Parts: sequence; structure tokens; C-alpha cells
Amino acid sequence: MRPEFPERRKRLAQQIASRKLDALVVSAQANIRYLCGFTGSNGLLLVRGDGWALLLTDPRYEIQAQQEADCLVRITRKPLTRELAAELGRRRLRRVGFEAGRLTYADYESLKAALRARVQLKPVADAVESLRLLKSEAEVEAIGRSMAIAAAAFEKAMRAAREGIREAELAAELDYQMRLLGAEKPAFETIVLFGENAALPHGKPGTRALRPHELVLVDIGAQRDGYASDMTRMAVLGTPSERVRRLYQIVLDAQQAALDQLRPGVTGGMVDAAARKALERHGLDQCFSHSTGHGVGLEVHEAPRLGKDDKTRIQPGMVVTVEPGIYIEGWGGIRIEDTVVVTSNGSRILTPAGKELLRL
Ligand code: ZN
Ligand code: ZN
Repeated sequence: MRPEFPERRKRLAQQIASRKLDALVVSAQANIRYLCGFTGSNGLLLVRGDGWALLLTDPRYEIQAQQEADCLVRITRKPLTRELAAELGRRRLRRVGFEAGRLTYADYESLKAALRARVQLKPVADAVESLRLLKSEAEVEAIGRSMAIAAAAFEKAMRAAREGIREAELAAELDYQMRLLGAEKPAFETIVLFGENAALPHGKPGTRALRPHELVLVDIGAQRDGYASDMTRMAVLGTPSERVRRLYQIVLDAQQAALDQLRPGVTGGMVDAAARKALERHGLDQCFSHSTGHGVGLEVHEAPRLGKDDKTRIQPGMVVTVEPGIYIEGWGGIRIEDTVVVTSNGSRILTPAGKELLRL
């Protein structure tokens, strides 16, 4: 991927200036990675209103930070907040923003305690996140590669699905295949649910064994080059019942209705309403307990949200999931999910897997 970091920092610098700040302290790992390439777990990135940036991290990351970060790096044995406070003083940075939704209270307190009296800390919401909302072509390609790995892993791992296999076993097989195919890790804990367990939208795979004619819900995503992907597919062991076939088609139609609605200019709420209306026609909207989709990028759940009454305007370059589902306690659940990129006149599905109900 061509390094896009200087360009991203330039766009952030405009935001810093427009908020009348001297600098912004970036503490969220995904935001630090987005702005300078550093992937370590302990770091603070100071970005000034003119685009200048300094990464602070500890000696464990000395070599890694030099290799990855395309900005100045300072290694310190002190708590990062104390080193940062000293740096703000040295550079006479007075009005300093911090990521209100991301910096822990403990770090905020320790930073505040180390600051000189004249430095003011200002809470800032979603400064980097608002940049990450629109993906570059290279980012869309990265998400596509991540998605291809998840889809291929699903295809391979489902060959191991047979009567008696436990949910956790199949989840392990899916994770193993993703790693073999080049994933850094699963983008989230792989969800495998059998039968009535699928009534829990985010249930955990356990010891439940697969029985004939049962539904299998698999929600899987890979992480590759830092980028996540997300898909949900359904399978059935043997022949699906009439009820399963009927409900599956209803969810598939609801997903298509949302996909048809997804294009530049509409709101997230309008996409959500399209799926909800399609389910309502069959009296199933009460069984749809979550939002229709979420953004996908360096994190598996990021902006925008395709939820009820969401006002975000959809724009080309957004990457979102479309994933309506129905959940019936004691019976099970059905969800169909694709990762999709918004284009100039509509959208393009990045998930390469077919959407027919898979027979095992
Ligand atoms: Zn998912
Ligand atoms: Zn999802």
C-alpha cells in the first residue's frame, strides 16, 4: 500500500487548526496506525496544527517503531503521559486536544497532573474517526483482500461441518483456515451457533453438538494488513424445513432491500428502514433487534452506523456491512451479512461468497 500517512496528517492538521487547537494527542491504537503506521499496543501520537507529528512509545517497541512509523519517534522509559507533558511544555503547545472517547480517565488524570499550569486540555470527538469514514482505493482493496480470506476460510472450514461437531470446534477450524490463508488474526471472535443458540445475535460458540436438519450461523471476519472484514452465512445439516426455507428467503429479501437502498445521498437510517420494512411485511420486524449495519475498516465496528433514524449521509468510499437478521427465542436465528463499499452511483459487495442457504 502506498503510504498515505502524510496526506492523512495534513487533513487532520486542518481539523486541528479549525478547532483553534495547537495540537491533538491521539491515543486510540487504530487512529495512531492510521496516521503514522505504528502498530504497537503502547503509544501516544502528538500531531501539531501544521502536520508535524511525534510518536511516543516504550523500549519494547524501539525497533518496531523505527521500522513502521513514518514520523519522529521518541522512546521513553517514563509513563508516556509524563513524557508527553514535558514535550508540550518544551514546544509551548497551550491548547491541546485529546480524544475524549478514547483516552482513559486514569491517563487523562496523569497527563493533567504532569502539565504546566498554562496548558489547557480540550476534549475532541471523532477527529480521526471522521477521516477514516471515507476509505481510499488502497484501503478498499485491503478490506477486499481481508474479505477474500474470510470467505475462502469459510468455504474450506465448512467441509469439516458434520453431525456431532461442536460449535467451538468449527470456530477453531474457521480461525485456523483464516491464519493459513494469510490473516494476521480473526477481526473479532468468530461466531458459530447451532440450532436454538442462533437466537443470540452475538452468542459464543460452546460445546453444543450439531444435529441433523439444524441451522448453522457463522459470523466471520479476517484481519489483513490491519483491515477487518465481516460476513455472516447460514448453513443447514441435511434438508431444511419449510419454515427455515421461508424465513431464510425473507431475510435474504430484507438484505437485498437494504442493499438496493444503499447509495450516496441517502441516510444510514433510510438503509436501515428498507430492511426493517421488508421484515415488517411478514410481521418479523420485532425479531430484528440490532441495526442493519456498521462501518468496517481498521476496526470491525466503526462509523457510520446504519441504524434506526441514523442521520449520517452515505458517501462514496464508505465501507459498511448490511446484515439484517431475525432472532426467535427457543427456535434460533437467521442473519445474512455482506461487507459493501459505497460507489459513486450505488454500492459494490466485497464479500465473494454466494448467498444461497448452504447444505452440509
Ligand atoms: Zn458479522
Ligand atoms: Zn457486522
